[in-house]
Amino acid sequence: MTTPLRGQMMDVPLTVSSLLAHASRFFGTTEIVSKRIEGDVHRYTYRDCEKRAKQLAQGLIALGVEAGDRIGTLAWNGYRHLETYYGTTGFGAVCHTINPRLFPEQIAYIVNHADDRYVMFDATFAALVDVLAPQCPNVQGWIALADDAHLLRLATPVIGYEALVCAQDGDFDWPVLDERLASYLCYTSGTTGNPKGALYSHRSTVLHAYGVSLPNASGLSARDCALPVVPMFHVNAWGIPHAAPLTGAKLVLPGKDLDGKSLYELMEAEHVTYSAGVPTVWLGLLNYVREAGLRFGSLERTVIGGSACPPALLRMFRDDYGVQAIHGWGMTEMSPLGTVSRLNREQTMRSPDEQRRLLEKQGHVIYGVDMKIVGDGGRELPWDGVAFGDLHVRGPWVIDGYFRNDVSPLIDGWFPTGDVATIDHDGFMRITDRSKDLIKSGGEWISSIEIENLAVAHAAVAEAACIACAHPNWKERPLLVVVKRPNADVTPEELLGFYEGKVAKWWIPDDVVFVDELPHTATGKVNKLRLREQFRDHILSSARNIENCPLADRGMAGSGSTPVPE
Ligand code: AMP
Repeated sequence: MTTPLRGQMMDVPLTVSSLLAHASRFFGTTEIVSKRIEGDVHRYTYRDCEKRAKQLAQGLIALGVEAGDRIGTLAWNGYRHLETYYGTTGFGAVCHTINPRLFPEQIAYIVNHADDRYVMFDATFAALVDVLAPQCPNVQGWIALADDAHLLRLATPVIGYEALVCAQDGDFDWPVLDERLASYLCYTSGTTGNPKGALYSHRSTVLHAYGVSLPNASGLSARDCALPVVPMFHVNAWGIPHAAPLTGAKLVLPGKDLDGKSLYELMEAEHVTYSAGVPTVWLGLLNYVREAGLRFGSLERTVIGGSACPPALLRMFRDDYGVQAIHGWGMTEMSPLGTVSRLNREQTMRSPDEQRRLLEKQGHVIYGVDMKIVGDGGRELPWDGVAFGDLHVRGPWVIDGYFRNDVSPLIDGWFPTGDVATIDHDGFMRITDRSKDLIKSGGEWISSIEIENLAVAHAAVAEAACIACAHPNWKERPLLVVVKRPNADVTPEELLGFYEGKVAKWWIPDDVVFVDELPHTATGKVNKLRLREQFRDHILSSARNIENCPLADRGMAGSGSTPVPE
């Protein structure tokens, strides 16, 4: 019997600091541009960034921070936040990004659960810090990401970031760390129960950065200028702060102003080629661009994800502005990238309609992620684009447990995402719903995402959400809650008529309710939990007079597995 042979390759650990060190050495003069909360635009290079990240590491070590300690951040996308990413993880501390849009009680819970030693914050969140500090007794210091001239007066004693950094010389070597040590800690938004912590490792962060950069994903390169609209406090801005130094792309960080006008002006001024964000941000941007009669001078492609991207938005980007809009899917527990909707060579030769249908789905996995859909009893379901089931994933940047939680979330070694999906012959996955958002009507499933996508394709609809409403006959029926576009008018009947011929009759919502705005979660998704509470007592018109229930003639009799229409 022959002995297995070990390779003779260097065992160089995959550490987060190596990403910035690479950019500083080989793309040293490439710019990082930040719109500061102070109001001006700040620019420096990867080389400057690494030097200051090292100064920060020295400053934190001088404060007594040790490897393994968690450092919280409450900050927008900006160069100081970027320095914090690298200046903490670089010597083995853990960068814990906190979503400031959560309720203060949730933030206090997260800071205490993570046991943060220090928390860095932008001046925008000064009042929040005064609320949090008394509730977070284990935090040893609050560090204001500002220079002395911009330090605000707070009830809480604060440390000035610039003073901390500038006291050091940056003469520091990144230590060689075990790649399996923790790098970042990100909490889920906690719409059900308390937020849970996903603790990434150096290895998972670097591998994810490789995955994000692949031509089949973002395709970032040193010729790109990347502007992550997705916040650095939401799953590490989808890995762009790591993929940009890995590829040498110029980085533009937009700060706190994420309205259409501010984003457009920054994109044009810096010649941005690549961007990424949630659908609501892009709707805001496109509304501005359309109303002002503008064009994009440099934007080539943008990744849209975080919640289902309405096909109308993909079309608008492509057909009206010549921008390649790429639908992506992932989650905090997956660092976050899972799938991306990009075609292979053979698919690009299919009819335009077929290509469009594929591109509207959440897409194909990138190397590093495996996925399957399972039905009752964990049975794997076929990839026929019709069968839908619970989506399970695995891979080196998927969690295998939550921080400080002994209960394993895994099922047979796979992570159950909580999403319900189909996978087609091409391996393209389509999310039908969060499992808890599916509507079960007379024993059959209705996809709320499908109903919402159609609603926003109507010219008068700005935003729409479809939720289950109790029904005496069918247990649940869909209710459509709609925000109209400014100055647009449409009646419930017109909207319901819009569905005719586009979905099975029994999928058509029973009622339409118009509201001024929809509730959103801290990560910009429609808060369906809140919406369901808001409409808990809503009596559907179809339920008012069961005798005349319009569902009887909608072919809803019987059960069985009604497929989700392609
Ligand atoms: P988060 O952990 O906050 O990033 O949320 C992850 C969840 O957002 C996923 O499990 C999905 O339910 C949802 N999500 C993310 N991207 C998409 C997408 N492209 N289409 C539909 N849902 C999405």
